[in-house]
Amino acid sequence: MEAHDGMYIDGAWRPAAGGDRIEVVDPATEQVIGRVPAGGAEDVDAAVRAARAALPGWAATPPAERAALLGAVRDAMAGRREEIAATVVAELGAPPAFAAAVHTDMPTAVMGSFAELAASHPFEERIGNSRVFQEPVGVVGAITPWNYPLHQIVAKVAPALAAGCTVVLKPAEDTPLVAQLFAEILHEVGLPAGVFNLVTGLGPVAGQALAEHPGVDLVSFTGSTAVGRQIGATAGAAVKRVALELGGKSANVILPGADLGRAVNVGLANVFANSGQTCSAWTRMLVDSARYDEAVGIATAAVAKYVPGERLGPVVNAKQRDRVRGYIRRGVAEGARIVAGGPDAPEGMETGYYVRPTVFADVEPGMAIAQEEIFGPVVVLIRYEDEEDALRIANGTVYGLAGAVWGGDEEEAVAFARRMDTGQVDINGGRFNLLAPFGGYKQSGVGRELGAHGLGEYLQTKSLQF
Ligand code: NAP
Ligand code: MG
Repeated sequence: MEAHDGMYIDGAWRPAAGGDRIEVVDPATEQVIGRVPAGGAEDVDAAVRAARAALPGWAATPPAERAALLGAVRDAMAGRREEIAATVVAELGAPPAFAAAVHTDMPTAVMGSFAELAASHPFEERIGNSRVFQEPVGVVGAITPWNYPLHQIVAKVAPALAAGCTVVLKPAEDTPLVAQLFAEILHEVGLPAGVFNLVTGLGPVAGQALAEHPGVDLVSFTGSTAVGRQIGATAGAAVKRVALELGGKSANVILPGADLGRAVNVGLANVFANSGQTCSAWTRMLVDSARYDEAVGIATAAVAKYVPGERLGPVVNAKQRDRVRGYIRRGVAEGARIVAGGPDAPEGMETGYYVRPTVFADVEPGMAIAQEEIFGPVVVLIRYEDEEDALRIANGTVYGLAGAVWGGDEEEAVAFARRMDTGQVDINGGRFNLLAPFGGYKQSGVGRELGAHGLGEYLQTKSLQF
């Protein structure tokens, strides 16, 4: 795809107000692969005005018609599968198979799920002598990160459109090309002008202008806790709805009765997928002391499968690479033991933002590498003495986004999961469910995405009494 030198506003590609550009870089080659405009407050304002103007018409469009358009978007995404995957390979550095299966097919399926929800959702109910209506919140400002670039866009735009909201999207500066491709698709299926608008640009400029704009009714943000905190404060001051999907440091709890080989192998695959750049990754592996050394051995052997440049892609940019390597050095300084990987570039990979898949043993729960989100291919193995100890460690961070529990007995695993302060837990390798609510406890966020719960974020209720 050729990059558009413009913003998609009010149904057309329009020149940006200023002349600044963002260079898009392929993290595997470090080559510039495209340029997009770096928008500012003027562009955001034009986009919000277009979204406001389009709101009454779209909100009044019958849900079945909105559903039909979302279904057409789904089909168009499926039709451009190769192009979407190639774009994510180029701008994120994702391995091709993962780009197709996860970065392309998953958001396509999520779009389909919201087409179905738009058609079937009860937007009206009776409660006693009242008719209660679920109405669109209004204009949505969506600010998304680069790690699952299209999934995170779709997880906001699809439910917003299903609900009858209109949208201004500010995608991550590192991955604007797949956002432009998505805008092309929405245009092709004939979404009315102004219902979806795209402003590319830098977070502290375009992102902040969108988060602060008085014409935005709901800000939906996914990214770092630092920026999320700021966006939440701004929204709170303006008495505006806000949804925040922030970081995580999720625990993979392997109970004494669990299948250790499977739990360790699936646990590593979970972390190393997407080069460790997954907010819900199980980056802390908790193993009982009796089997701890065995788990370290299994993990050390399993790392060999994650060859940089093959199954393991680069991280998104030089800053992230340096940040991740900095954490690996910090872990060593804190007294943890590297059993695989390390802070240096993988052998023979001088070009590209590659990090060696790294496993730490002898990690204490209070260490920075056990508390902070590293966002790279790094997993820490922590020893626990008994179940209460495991629970204390699992719940002992500021985050609470996801997790896993493995047990010989499913009921025992469920009982443990119910005591975890976290939003999603996979039991004995349970599969991702794109209709299940996704979101954080504690500082991992506010609100839920996906499925009926995700749709609910974009609705507000009105009661009429009779
Ligand atoms: P980030 O800065 O929070 O980026 C997320 C989005 O917010 C991007 O579109 C970003 O624009 C925008 N943004 C940045 N500053 C803003 C501001 N002041 N006002 C409004 N919007 C703003 O995250 P990052 O710098 O890409 O990554 C840093 C760390 O965040 C990672 O290492 C990781 O720990 C965490 N992270 C978490 C997730 C997650 O899914 N929970 C995703 C990505 C990153 P720019 O693209 O221009 O920065
Ligand atoms: Mg940033």
